[in-house]
Order: sequence, then structure tokens, then C-alpha cells
Amino acid sequence: MLKSAKPDRFFVTTAIPYMNSHVHLGNCLEYVLADALARAARLRGEPTYLLTGTDEHGQKIVTTAKDKGVEVREFVQGNVDFFQAALKELNVSYDDFIRTSDQKRHWPVVQAFWRRLKEKGDLYEKDYEGLYCIGCEAFYREADLVDGQCPTHLTKPELTKERNWFFKLSRYSTEILDFLKTRVEPRWRANEMIKFLEQGLEDISFSRPKAKLNWGIPVPDDDSQVIYVWCDALVNYLSAVTRVEVNKKTKAIDLKSDWWPASVHVVGKDIAKFHTLYWPAMLLSAGLALPEKVLIHGFITINGQKISKSLGNVIEPKQITETYGVDALRFYFLHEVPTVDDGDFSLNHLKEVYNGVLADGLGNLVQRLIVMSNKYEVKWSWPTGTNTDLAYRAVLTICSAGGHFEVQKALDKLVKQIEELNRNIQQLAPWELFKTEPDRARDELIKLLDELARLAVTLEPFLPNTSAKIITQLKTRQPEVLFPKLDQ
Ligand SMILES: [Zn+2]
Repeated sequence: MLKSAKPDRFFVTTAIPYMNSHVHLGNCLEYVLADALARAARLRGEPTYLLTGTDEHGQKIVTTAKDKGVEVREFVQGNVDFFQAALKELNVSYDDFIRTSDQKRHWPVVQAFWRRLKEKGDLYEKDYEGLYCIGCEAFYREADLVDGQCPTHLTKPELTKERNWFFKLSRYSTEILDFLKTRVEPRWRANEMIKFLEQGLEDISFSRPKAKLNWGIPVPDDDSQVIYVWCDALVNYLSAVTRVEVNKKTKAIDLKSDWWPASVHVVGKDIAKFHTLYWPAMLLSAGLALPEKVLIHGFITINGQKISKSLGNVIEPKQITETYGVDALRFYFLHEVPTVDDGDFSLNHLKEVYNGVLADGLGNLVQRLIVMSNKYEVKWSWPTGTNTDLAYRAVLTICSAGGHFEVQKALDKLVKQIEELNRNIQQLAPWELFKTEPDRARDELIKLLDELARLAVTLEPFLPNTSAKIITQLKTRQPEVLFPKLDQ
């Protein structure tokens, strides 16, 4: 049986993007999704840690920097700065940011982790010949190629021969199957991985000769080799929250952490294999607990097309947030895109959603209630209790493991609530009711204001700025337009 961790705290991670280019709109879904999960956990009252960071090693980065005529460190720093600005733009409330180039935090944990695997007898040297895609920095099996080409880069991989360290992935097939059956969301993605597993797992290349990869972490006790991406990038989840302790007498390496294991790794479908097959096997080998869940999300297309530089449809998040505000973009990601499936982004649809649900729906609801409460001098004060008490628990639960992290479903409950409150106002027609039954009209408005307060609190994980603005308006009774209407 796989060991489970403390349920009373929430440690959520995003994958760390590769710093050979700027992040774009398609990447950003994941950070907003993880952020919503973290904020919902905080609102549930759980100690929460949201980790993100950057993958900064590998030959591809060296090559791209060289092509641009920039020093590698400087090139990477530019992309890291851009990423951090985007996270700020998206209002992602991360608690920690780990960089794989961090020699103080990341490298010692990676090297200690390597030693643990080696002590376990799971690392061995082997001459290896295989088909290598430089773009992916990965070896391919003949069976995984499409017409003899890399499925991502559509280029022919090179036959490469070299001596590498290998990890005995195949040794952990039984436990990985157990992991896939119980800890991967959604179920159908887990089933895809199970099919892959059933074809049989091959051991994986864990290092590269220094001559071919010098921008990386050295293999302990082997000057000729550098640690390959698996034992470098994946270990970020651990290195951010772990310290290495060496027993003075026995020299045994201990990895100590207050947060590990992760409650959920949020990852894209393209890297599901690494997170649901390789990573659990590595952790088992190191004798560490497995993540409680891996949540796999889909990809975003733009106007039905794959996002790519060559198609010229790359959008930076700032281009959207400048016009529509960050919460409109967050709403799009969290409500218009299925949480675990692919979705499409189009400016037309964004405008529709902005003018519809946000301006006519939510904006109008807040405006009407604040204006009426002023006009009819309704005596209402903010409901008692903490935000955790006030929030709609059901919505927050859907955003947890118990609700399969179905953020879209959770947010949709709030959209339905907005519609219902608007409908109630229409049916009640307080402007009429005040003429005949002013006391009843005031009572009804108080009930509506209470519901709006609960709605505002529960919106926080999804639309944090809007949530704060509604709360302020309710407390000050100063009406302010939330989503100014835009021309179609
Ligand atoms: Zn490739």
C-alpha cells in the first residue's frame, strides 16, 4: 500500500517551465489553476504552500543563448524575469519560487537524492545507442516516432551512442500501477498511462556526458557526467521544501521536510508520463512518500489552432489583462476551459464572457444591490464570522482532492448563484415592494446583501481582485463599476 500524508495541510505545485523562451498565454492556464486551488485551500483554513519555479538547465538553453549572442546566465535571467512578471500580472499567490540553477537550495538536494538512488542499487552505467531529438533533449523509441520523426518537432532524431547512468525504472512497475490507479486525476488520463505502462517500462537515461551537456548539475563522484533533466527538474518539488542532513556517525543521508509529500502536482498532459511514471518510481527508490495526487490538465488552442511561434499566434498574458483586467482572463481559464481537458481561447469569446457573465451578471448584481441599499437606507452590516465561516463550503470542497479539483464545476456553482440572485431581485422588485411593504422590502434586501457577502468571499480563489472590490463596496456602500462594458 502507498503511504498517505497528513491531510490537514495543502502543498500544491506547478510544473516548472523551461527557460529557453518567454512563457505565453497557453502556459498560464496552469499557474492560474494551481493558484485557485491554493487560494481555496487557504479559505478552507488549511496551512497552504504554493510552489512554482523554473527549469534552467540543458543544452537547448545554451544553444538558444548562443544563437541570440547572449551569455547563458543573462539569457536565462531575462526569461525568469519575464515569467515572474507574468505571475504577478496573473495575480498568482505563490509562496515559493525555486530555480534549478540555485546551487544553495536545489543542487544539494538533487545530489543527495542521486546518492540515495545509487545506494539503493537503482543507478547503473551502460553504453547506450538510441534516437535522440535535440529539440526535446530526449531519446525516442522507434514506436513513439511519427513517420520516423519526433512528434513534437517533426524532425528526424539522430542516432546517438554514449555512456550514461541509467535508472531502474522497470523495477517499480507494480507500485507505479498502484499509483496510477489511485492518485491520478482525471481517471481517463490515468488509464492512458496504464496502457503505456502495460507495454512494459524501459530503464531511463539519467545522465549525459559532460561534453554534450555542460549546463547542469554534476553527477556525484563522476566528473565525466552531468545529471539529466529527470533527476534535476523533477526534484524541484522536493528541493524547495527539503534540507539535507548527513548523519555524522553513519554518513547516512537524510532528507528532512515539513511539507513533503505534495498534496497535488498540477501538470500539463504533455508531461503526464514523467510525473506519473518516472517521478513516483524515483521517490520510491529514494524511500520517500509519493505525492497524494497528480492533476493533469489539457492544452489551450487559439481560435482552434495550436499555439506556436511559427503560426504567429503567441499571446502574452499582459496583452489581455491590459484591456480586460486580470480577473476576466482568470475567469476565462477557470470557467471557459474545462479543468482537465483541452480548451480554446478567442478574443471574441472573451468579449462575450466579459460583457455577459461579468458585466451584465456579476457587475450588475453588485451595482443594483449597493445602489438600492443606499437609496432605501437599509441597515445592514457585514455578517459575523471569519471568511472561512462565510464561504460556501461546497464550492471550496470541489476544489480539493475530495472534489477531484474540478475548479470549473466549482466556479460554475458561483455563476449559477449570480444568476439566481439577479433573478430573485427581478422577481422581488424591491422598488415596487418599498411602496407597499417597506419593512419586508428591507428584510429581503438584507438577505440579498448577506448572500452577496458570501458570494464575494467565495469568489476569492477565482477572481481575487473582484472579490476584494465587492467586499470593499459592501463595507463602504460606495458603488463602483466592476466591469465597464466594452464595445462588441
Ligand atoms: Zn523533439
